[in-house]
Amino acid sequence: MKKMRYGMIVFWTLLLSFMFIPSVEADSGQLYEVGADAVNVRIAPNHNAEIIGQIGSGDQLVVFQEQYGWVQTYYDGEKAWVASQFLLDHKEKSAAKDTSYSTVTITANNVRLRNGPGTDNDIIGHTFEGNTYEVIETAGRWHKLLLDNGSAAWVASWLTDHPQQQQSSSGEETSGTTVVPLDGYNIVLDPGHGGRDPGASGISHEQEKNFTLTVAKVVAQKLRNAGATVILTRSDDTYVSLEERVNISQAYRTDAFISLHYNAFPITTINGTSAHYYQMGKEYKLAQNIQSALDKHTELNSRGVKQDAYHVLRENEDVSVLVELGYITSPYDLPVIQTENHQSNVADAIVEGVQNYFHN
Ligand SMILES: [Zn+2]
Repeated sequence: MKKMRYGMIVFWTLLLSFMFIPSVEADSGQLYEVGADAVNVRIAPNHNAEIIGQIGSGDQLVVFQEQYGWVQTYYDGEKAWVASQFLLDHKEKSAAKDTSYSTVTITANNVRLRNGPGTDNDIIGHTFEGNTYEVIETAGRWHKLLLDNGSAAWVASWLTDHPQQQQSSSGEETSGTTVVPLDGYNIVLDPGHGGRDPGASGISHEQEKNFTLTVAKVVAQKLRNAGATVILTRSDDTYVSLEERVNISQAYRTDAFISLHYNAFPITTINGTSAHYYQMGKEYKLAQNIQSALDKHTELNSRGVKQDAYHVLRENEDVSVLVELGYITSPYDLPVIQTENHQSNVADAIVEGVQNYFHN
């Protein structure tokens, strides 16, 4: 018993030394600062557990383990738990202070505040254009803001006057366009036709199914570079029914389904790209964003946005559009469609269209 007591004293001495030398990090624990007032300290990691004390803004504590959004520290010699949402990571806080700004101003309206750095985190509130906040921390392309009520929330940095650059894993940076990440978004790309269904036939009997697969792979890569998770309804020359394509979309938490096609018409002077939607609202908005990006990035004629009841749109409950990427029966479009440069431009356009759809 005596031995235990001595152990505790040694422990507390160590703990206090960590508390008062903020730059030193405990070997077995990590130093955190409390970022809110009247934070409850509980005997177990849940909101119903008995409260054994309170800590407040500026207090520091050493954390020995984390689980399910709670951190374990010691309080009055007992194991105790604090909800981690109220803590500022000491190291990250110092890093944030080293940057050339400490406040940011919101540059868009109705901006979502989240409980973590990424769009897959929960929305915990909204903020508005012109509001200014202290930045507690920056992680990737997200800022953690100190709110007026003393709590903290994350905001996408590209919706503030201090956007953070995207770090592309491939090292390749999209040039000439605003880089807006697609982290947390699931996009289903649907290369039209395939296998025994060749799709439309071109001037020299080129098959639409080959063009759609080629461009889909380029688009998929660029969407992934922008952070999106991409699912292809087919990745080789196999037949996939329209029902199956819709089922694939609905099997995921799909944020956007984009069917890729090339057009054909008996009159060879007909050319250009178009984007098709079934429902007004989100689908119209997505189609419009993709079409205007296609108009900007490619030299093909714009045929605009059209409402159509294609099976993959009509039967799909996810936000879905179908894009016609030119006429393989047009002597003007066909050679353009076949260049890698054009396929890359189409991919840039779809990435930009999707980004504008999600973030504007
Ligand atoms: Zn087609």
